[in-house]
Amino acid sequence: MDEWNLRTDNLSSRRHAKTLGPPDRFSASIVLDRAITRLRMGTTLLPGGAGKYVLGIDPACSRCQEPLTAPHMLLHCPYHKAQRDHLEAALHSHGLVFNLSNVLDPKGAARGPVFSALAKYLLDCQLTDKI
Ligand SMILES: [Zn+2]
Repeated sequence: MDEWNLRTDNLSSRRHAKTLGPPDRFSASIVLDRAITRLRMGTTLLPGGAGKYVLGIDPACSRCQEPLTAPHMLLHCPYHKAQRDHLEAALHSHGLVFNLSNVLDPKGAARGPVFSALAKYLLDCQLTDKI
């Protein structure tokens, strides 16, 4: 009886075992993927967050003196307004409000286009090495 239980346990655990998919890819570039992953996990080295401890740098945005955080950099900094228009348009074309959760975790059909617009934004603003 014990042996039978053992065998069925093995069977059912194998049946429910998850297969490992490929790692999440957000763009064609490893550097951009790393930046987007850090933004999504909240583990950036932006000076308004952990960067001020890790890198010992000024926590304020050098352009406008606001704390340089992910929301500031992605949504609010007036310095990146021109580049942001494209990102904002990508969200709007999928009926999404331009906010942090839609930028970093777009759902369904919006996912591909929003991540490619986000990748372009990070590149255009030359932000990838700051994240
Ligand atoms: Zn700023």
